[in-house]
Amino acid sequence: MVTVLPSLGVPKRSLERVWTIVVAAGSGQRFGGPKQFEGLGDRRVVDWAVDVARLASNDGVVTVLPAGSAEPVVGLAVAGGPTRSASVRAGLEAVPSSASIICVHDAARPFATVALFEAVIAAVNAGAAGAVPGIEVADTIKVIDDLGTIVATPAREKLRAVQTPQAFRADLFRLAYASDAEGTDDAALVEAIGGRVVVVAGEAANRKITTPEDLEWARAKVVAS
Ligand code: C5P
Repeated sequence: MVTVLPSLGVPKRSLERVWTIVVAAGSGQRFGGPKQFEGLGDRRVVDWAVDVARLASNDGVVTVLPAGSAEPVVGLAVAGGPTRSASVRAGLEAVPSSASIICVHDAARPFATVALFEAVIAAVNAGAAGAVPGIEVADTIKVIDDLGTIVATPAREKLRAVQTPQAFRADLFRLAYASDAEGTDDAALVEAIGGRVVVVAGEAANRKITTPEDLEWARAKVVAS
C-alpha cells in the first residue's frame, strides 16, 4: 500500500493542488542589477525562494526568469515580461488547469518560511479568494498628490505592509489576470475584480532584498544563523 503524505503547505485531508509562481524576472533597478542571482550563503537569493516554494507546494513550482537568461533553476522555468504583472502572467500560462490554489512568491524574499506558505494556503482553503502576509507599519503613512502635498493620512491601525507568498483560489486568480491589469502585488488584481483577500500575520524576517544594504543584512543573518 502506498501512503501519500500531505504537503506541509496544505491542511491534512485537503484535496488542494497547490502551484507556486516564483517571480525572478526583475532587472533590479534600485539594486543596480538582478539581485535575485546574488550569492547568499551556499545558494543564490532566488534558490532560497524556490526551495521554500517547492517544500510548500504539493503540485509544482514555476520560476519566471528574465527573457534570455541562462541562469539555471531547479524545475520548470519560463521567460518573464517587462513588469511584475507581465511576469506573473507568463508564469501563470505554465501552471496546469488542474491547480486549485496558486501562490506567487517574490524571488527577492529569501527568508519566507513554509509556515507562512501554510498560513496563506490555509486561509484560501478556508474560503477566502486570496490571502497575503502583512505586518503592522511603524511609521505614519501619508497619501500625496503629484506636487507632494499631503492629501490624506490613513489611520495607521488599519494599514499593513504586505509581503509574499500570496495565495489565491485558482479560478479567480486566472480571471484577475485575464485582462492586462497591472499592480505591484497580486492581491491588487484580485481585489479589483471583487475577490475577498484577507491578511494573515507576516514575518519580520521576510524582507524583500531591494538595496545593497538589504543584501548585506541578509548575508549577516545567514552567517549568524
Ligand atoms: O521590483 P519589485 O519589487 O516589483 O520585484 C518583486 C519581484 O518581482 C522580484 O522577485 C522581481 O524579480 C520580480 N519581477 C519580475 N518581473 C519584472 C519585475 C519584477 O519577475 N518585470
